[in-house]
Amino acid sequence: IGRTLLDHQARTESNARTYPRRLPVAVAEASGSYLTDVDGRRYIDFLTGAGVLALGHNHPDLIEAVRRQLTKLTHGLDLPTPVRDEFRRRQLGMLPESMRGSMKMHFCGPTGADGVEAAVKLCKKATGRGTVVAFQGSYHGSTHGAMSLTSETSPKTGLHNLLPGIHFAPYGYCHRCPLSLRPETCATNCAEFLANTLTDTHGGVQKPAALILELVQGEGGSIPAPEKFVHRVAGLARTLDIPLIVDEVQTGCGRTGTWFAFEQYGIEPDVVVASKGLSGMGLPVSVIMYHERLDVWSPGSHIGTFRGNNLAFASANAYLDVLERDNLLAHVLQTGDYLFAALRQLQRETVLVADVRGRGLMLGMEMAGTAVASATEVATRFQREALRRGLIVEIGGREDCVVRLLPALNVSRETTDEALAIMRDATRAVEK
Ligand code: PMP
Repeated sequence: IGRTLLDHQARTESNARTYPRRLPVAVAEASGSYLTDVDGRRYIDFLTGAGVLALGHNHPDLIEAVRRQLTKLTHGLDLPTPVRDEFRRRQLGMLPESMRGSMKMHFCGPTGADGVEAAVKLCKKATGRGTVVAFQGSYHGSTHGAMSLTSETSPKTGLHNLLPGIHFAPYGYCHRCPLSLRPETCATNCAEFLANTLTDTHGGVQKPAALILELVQGEGGSIPAPEKFVHRVAGLARTLDIPLIVDEVQTGCGRTGTWFAFEQYGIEPDVVVASKGLSGMGLPVSVIMYHERLDVWSPGSHIGTFRGNNLAFASANAYLDVLERDNLLAHVLQTGDYLFAALRQLQRETVLVADVRGRGLMLGMEMAGTAVASATEVATRFQREALRRGLIVEIGGREDCVVRLLPALNVSRETTDEALAIMRDATRAVEK
């Protein structure tokens, strides 16, 4: 049956479909960290809806919260409701104490891209400036604005008049340093490059409306930004009075072991974008949280029909209950460390793994090319061999040569070990 569904899809859906090409699985149902296809095959899901299903599939507490809300109210525009009120209060309460009193929330349309659009529009309006600095390797979404801020050029080919005035600064991608330096001696020249560009009056960039940064680039290849790089970028934003937008669409909501990744860097962004993991179970919701001094919008500045998904708010509130009750962030850090160490061990055993990196449960293995296969081919074959053995992983990064791991945040040690055994076998199969 699976083959038939995939064939139907290929014939009648747009050619832009992506996941089914590399992960040809027709899904029947799922539970926790496991997914079952229509032919009864079981897979470990280390993709979790592109990092959306924080508590895996069908968590009973979230189902119960949504079931209760379902009979009360599903869609509420942006009218206040009890679950929306609780959502806003608790989400703002998850910010570090020093930021709590001064941050406001705006509810955006349902996707991460919509949150990014809102963040950039807000900063443009607040500063009266028109350009934006993003970073090489960035991914911020697929709408016109968000795609303009995404560095990869292939989806932009043939699209005229994307957002003008976007400057891509070097990102601290040490494994392939954009300035060809060694991390031990580099003096964070990537951030200095940005500093020069921002202050140089002879050919630098105009003072931008915002800097937009991912603290671990996700689609860009699971690349955690080096600490010194982030401090320098945040320092520049502060001294030059440029709002710093941190895109936590993928890194947020516990994925990296703290509620937001920026907490681990000790910085205070002016705008935070959150979406994917917010509801814990993939119900669409997206918000920006921003410093009140940026609150310049008049009614209607960023609206949209789907900004009142009360099912998502109910689920998000229940997700926070589970997070606190089960001490989930500690589990993410522990399991992340365990998985990271095991992948490093795998790296020592094979020439196919060039780098292991990430934070919390947002990890990646950059694969290496061999005499007969490029790094992209190695990653693609690894993904196929893992799938054949019952493990779903994504690949991404420059040239699609990074195996990306985004397990559910409550993944058990047993399932983690099962996935690791498959990754080891898949590596052996690719080596042959
Ligand atoms: N920002 C980041 C960092 C992301 O990883 C993504 C999605 N991968 C987006 C924005 C866009 O989110 P969405 O697909 O929900 O529009």
